[in-house]
Amino acid sequence: MELITELRRKLIQAKRTESGAVRRSACGFVSPALHYLRIQRQWMLAVQQSLSHPNSLVATKLVQGYCRVFPFEYPIYVSLREGYMSTGSFVYYKRVGLKPRKEYFAVSLDVTDPLILWPLVVHELAHCWLSHTDHVDRISSSLLETFNGSYSEPEDRVEEAVCDAVATRLTGAQYPLAFAMKLWLDLPSKETGYHPFNSFRLELMAQTLDDMHLFEEAGQVRDIAATSSSSGWNDEPISPSLQALIHVAKGLPPYASLAHRLPCNEAINRSWANLYNGKEPSLSRIKVTSNDLKNALEGWTMPTDA
Ligand SMILES: [Zn+2]
Repeated sequence: MELITELRRKLIQAKRTESGAVRRSACGFVSPALHYLRIQRQWMLAVQQSLSHPNSLVATKLVQGYCRVFPFEYPIYVSLREGYMSTGSFVYYKRVGLKPRKEYFAVSLDVTDPLILWPLVVHELAHCWLSHTDHVDRISSSLLETFNGSYSEPEDRVEEAVCDAVATRLTGAQYPLAFAMKLWLDLPSKETGYHPFNSFRLELMAQTLDDMHLFEEAGQVRDIAATSSSSGWNDEPISPSLQALIHVAKGLPPYASLAHRLPCNEAINRSWANLYNGKEPSLSRIKVTSNDLKNALEGWTMPTDA
Protein backbone atom coordinates (compact mmCIF):
# COMPACT_ATOMS: atom_id res chain seq x y z
CA MET A 1 0.00 0.00 0.00
CA GLU A 2 2.88 2.35 0.72
CA LEU A 3 3.97 1.89 -2.87
CA ILE A 4 0.48 2.66 -4.21
CA THR A 5 0.34 5.82 -2.07
CA GLU A 6 3.74 6.89 -3.37
CA LEU A 7 2.66 6.17 -6.94
CA ARG A 8 -0.44 8.34 -6.50
CA ARG A 9 1.61 11.14 -4.97
CA LYS A 10 4.11 11.11 -7.88
CA LEU A 11 1.33 11.08 -10.48
CA ILE A 12 -0.44 14.07 -8.88
CA GLN A 13 2.89 15.86 -8.63
CA ALA A 14 3.58 15.23 -12.34
CA LYS A 15 0.09 16.43 -13.30
CA ARG A 16 0.30 19.67 -11.35
CA THR A 17 3.79 20.76 -12.26
CA GLU A 18 4.96 22.75 -15.26
CA SER A 19 8.51 21.56 -14.76
CA GLY A 20 9.79 19.00 -17.26
CA ALA A 21 12.48 17.86 -14.80
CA VAL A 22 9.91 17.07 -12.08
CA ARG A 23 7.77 15.20 -14.60
CA ARG A 24 10.74 13.17 -15.82
CA SER A 25 11.70 12.34 -12.25
CA ALA A 26 8.11 11.22 -11.48
CA CYS A 27 8.04 9.05 -14.61
CA GLY A 28 11.40 7.56 -13.62
CA PHE A 29 9.69 6.24 -10.50
CA VAL A 30 6.21 5.45 -11.84
CA SER A 31 7.28 3.38 -14.83
CA PRO A 32 9.46 0.78 -13.02
CA ALA A 33 7.04 0.73 -10.06
CA LEU A 34 4.09 -0.18 -12.30
CA HIS A 35 6.19 -2.82 -14.05
CA TYR A 36 7.22 -4.20 -10.68
CA LEU A 37 3.60 -4.49 -9.52
CA ARG A 38 2.53 -6.03 -12.84
CA ILE A 39 5.24 -8.71 -12.60
CA GLN A 40 4.18 -9.64 -9.09
CA ARG A 41 0.55 -9.86 -10.18
CA GLN A 42 1.52 -12.16 -13.10
CA TRP A 43 3.46 -14.43 -10.75
CA MET A 44 0.65 -14.64 -8.21
CA LEU A 45 -1.92 -15.40 -10.92
CA ALA A 46 0.36 -18.15 -12.29
CA VAL A 47 0.81 -19.62 -8.79
CA GLN A 48 -2.95 -19.61 -8.23
CA GLN A 49 -3.77 -21.14 -11.64
CA SER A 50 -1.12 -23.85 -11.20
CA LEU A 51 -2.87 -25.21 -8.12
CA SER A 52 -5.45 -26.95 -10.31
CA HIS A 53 -2.86 -28.55 -12.62
CA PRO A 54 -2.55 -32.38 -12.32
CA ASN A 55 1.21 -32.06 -11.71
CA SER A 56 0.90 -29.31 -9.12
CA LEU A 57 1.48 -31.66 -6.18
CA VAL A 58 4.65 -33.14 -7.70
CA ALA A 59 6.00 -29.69 -8.56
CA THR A 60 5.39 -28.41 -5.03
CA LYS A 61 6.93 -31.47 -3.38
CA LEU A 62 9.96 -31.30 -5.61
CA VAL A 63 10.58 -27.61 -4.92
CA GLN A 64 9.94 -28.02 -1.19
CA GLY A 65 12.40 -30.92 -1.18
CA TYR A 66 15.17 -28.86 -2.76
CA CYS A 67 14.36 -25.87 -0.57
CA ARG A 68 15.31 -27.92 2.48
CA VAL A 69 18.91 -27.79 1.30
CA PHE A 70 19.13 -24.04 0.70
CA PRO A 71 19.07 -21.77 3.72
CA PHE A 72 15.96 -19.83 2.58
CA GLU A 73 14.44 -17.38 5.00
CA TYR A 74 11.44 -16.50 2.85
CA PRO A 75 8.49 -18.45 1.46
CA ILE A 76 8.80 -19.85 -2.06
CA TYR A 77 5.76 -20.09 -4.30
CA VAL A 78 5.61 -22.62 -7.12
CA SER A 79 3.96 -22.23 -10.50
CA LEU A 80 3.74 -24.22 -13.71
CA ARG A 81 4.37 -22.05 -16.75
CA GLU A 82 6.10 -22.38 -20.10
CA GLY A 83 9.73 -22.13 -19.07
CA TYR A 84 11.89 -22.14 -15.97
CA MET A 85 11.92 -18.76 -14.28
CA SER A 86 12.34 -17.19 -10.89
CA THR A 87 11.77 -13.87 -9.24
CA GLY A 88 15.17 -13.99 -7.58
CA SER A 89 14.51 -11.33 -5.04
CA PHE A 90 13.21 -8.93 -7.65
CA VAL A 91 16.82 -8.04 -8.22
CA TYR A 92 15.96 -5.97 -11.26
CA TYR A 93 14.43 -3.42 -8.95
CA LYS A 94 17.43 -3.12 -6.65
CA ARG A 95 18.54 0.02 -8.47
CA VAL A 96 15.26 1.85 -7.93
CA GLY A 97 14.99 0.68 -4.34
CA LEU A 98 11.77 -1.32 -4.73
CA LYS A 99 11.39 -4.32 -2.50
CA PRO A 100 8.31 -6.17 -1.24
CA ARG A 101 7.56 -5.44 2.41
CA LYS A 102 7.07 -9.15 3.04
CA GLU A 103 9.75 -10.69 0.92
CA TYR A 104 9.08 -13.90 -0.98
CA PHE A 105 10.37 -15.86 -3.94
CA ALA A 106 8.53 -17.55 -6.79
CA VAL A 107 9.78 -20.11 -9.29
CA SER A 108 8.25 -21.82 -12.27
CA LEU A 109 8.75 -25.27 -13.75
CA ASP A 110 8.13 -25.80 -17.46
CA VAL A 111 4.70 -27.35 -17.72
CA THR A 112 5.44 -28.57 -21.26
CA ASP A 113 8.49 -30.60 -20.21
CA PRO A 114 8.55 -34.26 -19.19
CA LEU A 115 9.02 -34.48 -15.42
CA ILE A 116 12.49 -35.90 -15.81
CA LEU A 117 13.66 -32.42 -16.85
CA TRP A 118 12.29 -30.73 -13.75
CA PRO A 119 15.61 -30.73 -11.84
CA LEU A 120 16.23 -27.67 -14.05
CA VAL A 121 14.24 -25.74 -11.44
CA VAL A 122 17.18 -26.05 -9.02
CA HIS A 123 19.02 -23.50 -11.19
CA GLU A 124 16.08 -21.12 -10.55
CA LEU A 125 16.18 -21.74 -6.81
CA ALA A 126 19.88 -20.90 -6.94
CA HIS A 127 18.99 -17.48 -8.42
CA CYS A 128 16.76 -16.86 -5.38
CA TRP A 129 19.46 -18.02 -2.97
CA LEU A 130 22.13 -15.86 -4.64
CA SER A 131 20.09 -12.68 -4.39
CA HIS A 132 20.78 -12.63 -0.65
CA THR A 133 24.52 -13.19 -0.99
CA ASP A 134 27.39 -11.14 -2.44
CA HIS A 135 28.94 -14.01 -4.44
CA VAL A 136 27.97 -12.63 -7.86
CA ASP A 137 29.20 -9.08 -7.12
CA ARG A 138 32.47 -10.40 -5.72
CA ILE A 139 33.30 -12.68 -8.67
CA SER A 140 32.12 -10.11 -11.22
CA SER A 141 34.42 -7.47 -9.71
CA SER A 142 37.39 -9.76 -10.24
CA LEU A 143 36.49 -9.95 -13.94
CA LEU A 144 36.12 -6.23 -14.60
CA GLU A 145 39.38 -6.00 -16.51
CA THR A 146 38.36 -8.80 -18.87
CA PHE A 147 35.14 -6.92 -19.56
CA ASN A 148 36.82 -3.50 -20.00
CA GLY A 149 35.05 -2.03 -16.99
CA SER A 150 31.56 -3.01 -18.11
CA TYR A 151 29.91 -4.35 -14.99
CA SER A 152 26.56 -5.67 -16.07
CA GLU A 153 27.85 -8.18 -18.58
CA PRO A 154 30.00 -10.29 -16.23
CA GLU A 155 27.33 -9.99 -13.53
CA ASP A 156 24.65 -11.71 -15.63
CA ARG A 157 26.97 -14.38 -16.99
CA VAL A 158 28.51 -15.07 -13.57
CA GLU A 159 25.10 -15.44 -11.95
CA GLU A 160 23.95 -17.93 -14.59
CA ALA A 161 27.17 -19.94 -14.20
CA VAL A 162 26.95 -20.06 -10.40
CA CYS A 163 23.37 -21.32 -10.69
CA ASP A 164 24.60 -24.14 -12.98
CA ALA A 165 27.33 -25.13 -10.52
CA VAL A 166 24.90 -25.08 -7.56
CA ALA A 167 22.28 -27.13 -9.43
CA THR A 168 24.94 -29.71 -10.35
CA ARG A 169 26.24 -29.79 -6.78
CA LEU A 170 22.76 -30.67 -5.46
CA THR A 171 21.49 -33.01 -8.17
CA GLY A 172 24.63 -34.74 -9.47
CA ALA A 173 24.30 -35.60 -13.16
CA GLN A 174 20.56 -34.91 -13.26
CA TYR A 175 20.88 -31.21 -13.90
CA PRO A 176 23.58 -31.48 -16.62
CA LEU A 177 21.68 -34.26 -18.41
CA ALA A 178 18.41 -32.35 -18.24
CA PHE A 179 20.22 -29.20 -19.44
CA ALA A 180 21.73 -31.08 -22.40
CA MET A 181 18.44 -32.76 -23.32
CA LYS A 182 16.49 -29.52 -23.10
CA LEU A 183 19.01 -27.43 -25.07
CA TRP A 184 20.26 -30.16 -27.39
CA LEU A 185 19.71 -28.22 -30.60
CA ASP A 186 21.15 -25.02 -29.12
CA LEU A 187 24.26 -26.60 -27.59
CA PRO A 188 26.60 -25.90 -30.54
CA SER A 189 25.65 -22.24 -30.40
CA LYS A 190 28.15 -19.76 -29.00
CA GLU A 191 25.62 -16.94 -28.88
CA THR A 192 23.70 -17.23 -25.63
CA GLY A 193 22.84 -13.61 -24.79
CA TYR A 194 23.38 -13.03 -21.09
CA HIS A 195 24.36 -16.66 -20.52
CA PRO A 196 27.91 -18.04 -20.78
CA PHE A 197 28.73 -20.18 -23.82
CA ASN A 198 27.22 -23.66 -23.58
CA SER A 199 30.66 -25.30 -23.90
CA PHE A 200 31.74 -23.43 -20.75
CA ARG A 201 28.52 -24.26 -18.90
CA LEU A 202 28.98 -27.99 -19.62
CA GLU A 203 32.65 -27.92 -18.55
CA LEU A 204 31.72 -26.10 -15.34
CA MET A 205 29.14 -28.82 -14.60
CA ALA A 206 31.73 -31.53 -15.41
CA GLN A 207 34.29 -29.96 -13.07
CA THR A 208 31.65 -29.62 -10.33
CA LEU A 209 31.00 -33.37 -10.73
CA ASP A 210 34.77 -34.07 -10.66
CA ASP A 211 34.97 -32.11 -7.43
CA MET A 212 32.40 -34.52 -5.91
CA HIS A 213 34.33 -37.53 -7.32
CA LEU A 214 31.53 -38.31 -9.75
CA PHE A 215 34.06 -38.97 -12.51
CA GLU A 216 31.90 -41.26 -14.65
CA GLU A 217 29.11 -38.69 -14.71
CA ALA A 218 31.62 -35.93 -15.49
CA GLY A 219 32.87 -38.01 -18.45
CA GLN A 220 29.30 -38.33 -19.70
CA VAL A 221 28.88 -34.56 -19.62
CA ARG A 222 32.22 -34.01 -21.41
CA ASP A 223 31.19 -36.52 -24.09
CA ILE A 224 28.05 -34.48 -24.70
CA ALA A 225 30.14 -31.29 -24.88
CA ALA A 226 32.64 -32.90 -27.30
CA THR A 227 29.94 -33.98 -29.73
CA SER A 228 27.89 -30.80 -29.60
CA SER A 229 30.03 -27.74 -28.89
CA SER A 230 31.49 -25.55 -31.57
CA SER A 231 33.76 -23.53 -29.28
CA GLY A 232 36.33 -24.31 -26.61
CA TRP A 233 35.09 -23.75 -23.06
CA ASN A 234 37.93 -21.34 -22.33
CA ASP A 235 36.79 -19.02 -25.13
CA GLU A 236 34.14 -17.88 -22.66
CA PRO A 237 35.11 -14.46 -21.20
CA ILE A 238 34.27 -15.48 -17.61
CA SER A 239 36.31 -18.71 -17.84
CA PRO A 240 39.10 -17.32 -15.54
CA SER A 241 36.54 -17.46 -12.70
CA LEU A 242 35.74 -21.16 -13.10
CA GLN A 243 37.30 -22.26 -9.80
CA ALA A 244 35.67 -19.37 -7.92
CA LEU A 245 32.29 -20.43 -9.33
CA ILE A 246 32.77 -24.01 -8.15
CA HIS A 247 33.89 -22.70 -4.77
CA VAL A 248 30.53 -20.94 -4.29
CA ALA A 249 28.68 -24.19 -4.99
CA LYS A 250 30.86 -25.88 -2.38
CA GLY A 251 29.05 -23.79 0.24
CA LEU A 252 26.14 -26.21 -0.25
CA PRO A 253 26.18 -29.91 0.64
CA PRO A 254 27.37 -32.34 -2.07
CA TYR A 255 24.89 -34.54 -3.88
CA ALA A 256 26.09 -37.78 -2.23
CA SER A 257 25.34 -36.47 1.26
CA LEU A 258 21.71 -35.67 0.44
CA ALA A 259 20.20 -39.15 0.11
CA HIS A 260 18.19 -38.86 3.36
CA ARG A 261 17.19 -35.25 3.03
CA LEU A 262 16.37 -35.41 -0.67
CA PRO A 263 14.83 -38.76 -1.62
CA CYS A 264 13.46 -37.12 -4.78
CA ASN A 265 17.07 -37.16 -6.02
CA GLU A 266 17.06 -40.96 -5.89
CA ALA A 267 13.74 -41.27 -7.71
CA ILE A 268 14.95 -38.96 -10.47
CA ASN A 269 18.28 -40.79 -10.67
CA ARG A 270 16.52 -44.09 -11.21
CA SER A 271 14.50 -42.50 -13.98
CA TRP A 272 17.62 -41.23 -15.75
CA ALA A 273 19.27 -44.65 -15.39
CA ASN A 274 16.17 -46.34 -16.91
CA LEU A 275 16.05 -43.82 -19.69
CA TYR A 276 19.65 -44.27 -20.76
CA ASN A 277 19.64 -48.05 -20.28
CA GLY A 278 22.07 -48.59 -23.17
CA LYS A 279 19.61 -47.28 -25.74
CA GLU A 280 18.96 -43.90 -27.27
CA PRO A 281 16.00 -42.39 -25.32
CA SER A 282 12.89 -42.28 -27.49
CA LEU A 283 10.01 -39.90 -26.89
CA SER A 284 7.76 -42.76 -25.77
CA ARG A 285 10.35 -43.94 -23.20
CA ILE A 286 10.74 -40.39 -21.91
CA LYS A 287 6.96 -40.31 -21.46
CA VAL A 288 6.79 -43.67 -19.67
CA THR A 289 9.74 -42.78 -17.42
CA SER A 290 8.21 -39.43 -16.55
CA ASN A 291 4.89 -41.10 -15.62
CA ASP A 292 6.73 -43.55 -13.35
CA LEU A 293 8.54 -40.63 -11.82
CA LYS A 294 5.29 -38.79 -11.23
CA ASN A 295 3.92 -41.78 -9.31
CA ALA A 296 7.10 -42.09 -7.27
CA LEU A 297 7.16 -38.41 -6.34
CA GLU A 298 3.45 -38.22 -5.54
CA GLY A 299 3.87 -41.03 -3.03
CA TRP A 300 6.94 -39.48 -1.49
CA THR A 301 6.61 -38.06 2.00
CA MET A 302 9.02 -35.45 3.23
CA PRO A 303 11.48 -36.98 5.70
CA THR A 304 11.96 -35.20 9.01
CA ASP A 305 15.36 -33.63 9.54
CA ALA A 306 17.62 -35.60 11.85
ZN1 LIG B 1 19.28 -18.59 -14.94
